Amino acid sequence: MAHQATQAEIDAVVDRVHEIGLKTEISKGEERTLVGVIGGNAYAYKEAFSHLGGIHEIIPITKPFKLASREFRPLDTVVDVGGIRIGGDEVVMMAGPCSVEGEEMLLDTARHVAAQGAKVLRGGAFKPRTSPYSFQGLGESGLKMMATARDETGLKVVTEVVSPGDVELVAKYADILQLGTRNMQNYALLQEAGRSGKPVLLKRGMSSTIEEWLLAAEYVLSQGNRDVILCERGIRTFETATRFTLDLNAIPLARELSHLPIIVDPSQATGKWSLVRPMALAAVAAGAHGLIVEVHPTPNQALSDGAQSLDFESFDRLMQDLRRLLGSLAKQLA
Ligand code: PEP
Ligand code: MN
Repeated sequence: MAHQATQAEIDAVVDRVHEIGLKTEISKGEERTLVGVIGGNAYAYKEAFSHLGGIHEIIPITKPFKLASREFRPLDTVVDVGGIRIGGDEVVMMAGPCSVEGEEMLLDTARHVAAQGAKVLRGGAFKPRTSPYSFQGLGESGLKMMATARDETGLKVVTEVVSPGDVELVAKYADILQLGTRNMQNYALLQEAGRSGKPVLLKRGMSSTIEEWLLAAEYVLSQGNRDVILCERGIRTFETATRFTLDLNAIPLARELSHLPIIVDPSQATGKWSLVRPMALAAVAAGAHGLIVEVHPTPNQALSDGAQSLDFESFDRLMQDLRRLLGSLAKQLA
C-alpha cells in the first residue's frame, strides 16, 4: 500500500482479496503496510485491484515460499518466547541433554547452563531414533521433568514432537516445539504445529535443500503461526569423518532469502564434542541468531548422543569464548 494509504483503503483491498477467494497476510513495516495475497496463482488477479485506491504497486513474490520470503517481510522477524527474543541483536543459547533421562540429571544440567547464561533448556522426551531398539525417550514423564526444570531455573523449554497426534500434549509443556530433521517434510506434523499457538523450531532436513526447508517453514506459517525459528543442523555429504557437514552457507543465505531467525545446532552437525565449540563460534560469526547445544553431566553415560555432548567444563569454555567473540563483534549475549 502507498505510504499515505488510509485504513479504509487497506480494508477495501483486503475485502477484495477475500471476495476472490484468496487469503491475506498483513505485514506492517515502518514505512508502509504490505498486503500479502496468498493462494495459487494470486498474481493473475492483478487487474481485480486496478480500481482500488491507496495501492502503491502490485508485485509478484517470485520465490515458491511466500510468507517465509524476505520479499514479503523485509524486516527480520523476532520470535518472542516469554521475553526471550530470538532473531534480534542478542545471541540466544539453548542447551541441555539430547534426551531427558531423569529428573536429577536434567535439573543438574539446567541449573548449570542457566548459571552460565543459557536462556532455553533443550531435552527430548520423544526421540526420533534411527534404530527402533535405541532409547526412545521418557514421553510425558520427561515433559513433566522439563516443566519442573523450567519452574526451578526460569529457563524456557524446547522439546521435540515427532507425531501430529502428540502436538497438543507437547505444547502443554513446551515453550518451543522442536520439529526434527527426520520430520522436516512431515506435512501433517508441520500443519499441526502451525495450529498449536507455540513457536516452532524447524530443523533442516539432513538431505533437504534450503528451498525445501523454507517451503517446510511455509507450511507452518500458512497455518497462521508467524513464530518459526530455522535451525541448521548439518547435512549429508560424501564426508563420513563427521556425522554431518555443517552448512555454514545456509546461515547468511537463509537470512538473505527469509526474514525468519536462524539458529545452529553444532552438536548434531558434527557428532563430535571437540568440534562443537569451534563450529558454534563459526556459526555465530556467520550471523546465527542463536545456538542449540547438547550438554550432559556425564557424556560417556548418556543414553543418546554422548559423543557429541559437552560436559559442564567444555560448555563453560564455549560460553566464555562466545562472550569474547560477541564482544569483538560488538554484540551481547542475551
Ligand atoms: C536432537 O536435537 O537431539 C535431534 C534429534 O536433532 P535432529 O532432528 O537435528 O537430528
Ligand atoms: Mn541429539
